[in-house]
Amino acid sequence: MNKQRCPACGSIDIIDEKKSILIKEPFGGQNNIEIHENICSLCGSRGDFFNQNEPLIDETIKKLKQKSIENILNYFIDSKMSMSSIERALEIPQRTLTKWKNRTNVPSSAGIALMRFIKLFPWLLEVAENKYDYSEAQKIHINAAIQKLLPKIDFCKEDFVEAGGMVVTSESALLYNYYEKKDINSQEKIYNEVTLVTNTE
Ligand SMILES: [Zn+2]
Repeated sequence: MNKQRCPACGSIDIIDEKKSILIKEPFGGQNNIEIHENICSLCGSRGDFFNQNEPLIDETIKKLKQKSIENILNYFIDSKMSMSSIERALEIPQRTLTKWKNRTNVPSSAGIALMRFIKLFPWLLEVAENKYDYSEAQKIHINAAIQKLLPKIDFCKEDFVEAGGMVVTSESALLYNYYEKKDINSQEKIYNEVTLVTNTE
């Protein structure tokens, strides 16, 4: 212990303070850890003089990443997305995801990133199933966006009187129209309607 010297001035008069830091991982939560901060009483230099923090930080990130992958895979299971169908769509070896989940294998950084994208945008699996065909991918993407968007359109808004659009998927086309008519005298909304027409082709 006495051999530990300040890397700047060589003094052995070093104070070891503890500092709390928060480490976060997407879908893995967060962890508060205590790290060392060394301060030299003689020259005032600060830092982790003896590289004590790195192993602890690395270990914490590793644990949170494992938690992240487990949370994502559990979400897939809860959402009735089978691991084998995900593996097939992404053309990754069978049982890869199970091994990640059971901790018999550690996912690579690329594997973790891929699972995070699939968690956020599950329709990417459909893109993969369609062999990444550009126009199919566009349709899948637009369709997914419309599915999200439709319930959020505020049809009651004053300036929202008429809207329409078309959504095309690999199997069907969907045409939607929205009308809102107002009685000018009463300012009461007399009717509104949304029509959905499928298979317009
Ligand atoms: Zn010093």
